[in-house]
Amino acid sequence: MVKAVVGANWGDEGKGKITDMMAENADIVVRFQGGANAGHTIVNNYGKFALHTLPSGVFYGHTTSVIGNGVALNIPILIGELKSITDRNVPMPKLLVSDRAQIVMPYHILFDQYEEERLGKKSFGSTKSGIAPFYSDKYAKIGFQVNELFDEEVLREKVYRVLETKNILLTHLYHKDPLDAEELLRTLHEYRDMIAPYVCDVSAFLYKALKEGKTILLEGQLGTLKDTDHGIYPMVTSSSTLASYGAVGAGLPPYEIKEIVTVCKAYSSAVGAGAFVSEIFGEEADELRRRGGDGGEYGATTGRPRRMGWFDCVASKYGCRMQGATDVAFTVLDVLGYLDEIPVCVGYEIDGEVTTDFPVTTKLEKAKPVLKALPGWKCDIRGIKNYEDLPENCRKYVEFIESQIGFPITMVSNGPGREDIIYRHSPLKQAL
Ligand code: GDP
Repeated sequence: MVKAVVGANWGDEGKGKITDMMAENADIVVRFQGGANAGHTIVNNYGKFALHTLPSGVFYGHTTSVIGNGVALNIPILIGELKSITDRNVPMPKLLVSDRAQIVMPYHILFDQYEEERLGKKSFGSTKSGIAPFYSDKYAKIGFQVNELFDEEVLREKVYRVLETKNILLTHLYHKDPLDAEELLRTLHEYRDMIAPYVCDVSAFLYKALKEGKTILLEGQLGTLKDTDHGIYPMVTSSSTLASYGAVGAGLPPYEIKEIVTVCKAYSSAVGAGAFVSEIFGEEADELRRRGGDGGEYGATTGRPRRMGWFDCVASKYGCRMQGATDVAFTVLDVLGYLDEIPVCVGYEIDGEVTTDFPVTTKLEKAKPVLKALPGWKCDIRGIKNYEDLPENCRKYVEFIESQIGFPITMVSNGPGREDIIYRHSPLKQAL
């Protein structure tokens, strides 16, 4: 069967930890979208790791890690990441890369930088990993699939053809030097040799695994609100962040996805520009940022301070619905233990009317948060294993949020480690 771990919010919900935890009972962990533009932080017996491209299952000896066709594959980053974990005594993982995955080209990264520079103040806050130019080329049908690296004739012809237009843009729009086709070919030959040991027909592999009764875990990157279609367009990422896209981005039958664990953080954080209704500022935000996550809320890829906010029931309800959540994993609850009162955003006021339905971006820009303050629990909940042992106000916080979002919170995470998890019987789960 297939399970998915995906985000309900703007990303950084703690999916890495939940995937790492769930990978223990999975045979295969698959990345199906996105690229090295976001990161997961994982804390386990080997130490603390920031993964950008490798699936979170790489720390287990029994799992096969798979890069699906939907991923923006940055080959040097992938190989560097493999080295960085094996250098720290993690055994070499079993890794497979789809022969249909497309490659992030060196010029995608350049174009990402140059375009953000050109836009100046109107930039998207891109991580400059080449993701938007990569997906633009993919859908413009001038991207490079991994299998093309192994056909010299096809590769050479295409490199010359694609560089013709790239060089016009480089020289005329961005006023930079043109790229040399032979040099690019040399780089691609290096990429080919680096990736060759891992390339395979991933969808055929997964199909066979399903027939054999294996458990496959799909690992999402970012969250619903960054989805190209259903997120806060245009301040979104350039691939679909939804569990349903897992079927496409891994090459699986959609009906095989039986469990959709949607990770939702106990407060909000976001990176990059875009509407963020429950955002907080000043000392209030600084304190939450300092205490947040595991060592502060700073981007795993860029180190940028994240924007902070209170929990947003409107965005999270929508986030869970679009994912098709069968289970909600409610994370970093331990961080809120310092607050006397915890504000929660329960509605959006737009043009004088209050709604709990997440609107389209043009309306979202006008939304003001309707806040409700819940009493804090003023203690450290780390180390607690049973839901009933949580302080009453803490349970009330979880249950209030569950009632607002309408999806079952079956896991509560109270620390960054694999074992910091509380399983909960949710009345909503029974109703599903
Ligand atoms: P992801 O991209 O969704 O995997 O999220 P990130 O890894 O960027 O951010 C989650 C951060 O929170 C990481 O530093 C995790 O180690 C940490 N984390 C995850 N769950 C918890 C939790 O329950 N409590 C605390 N304190 N930290 C957590």
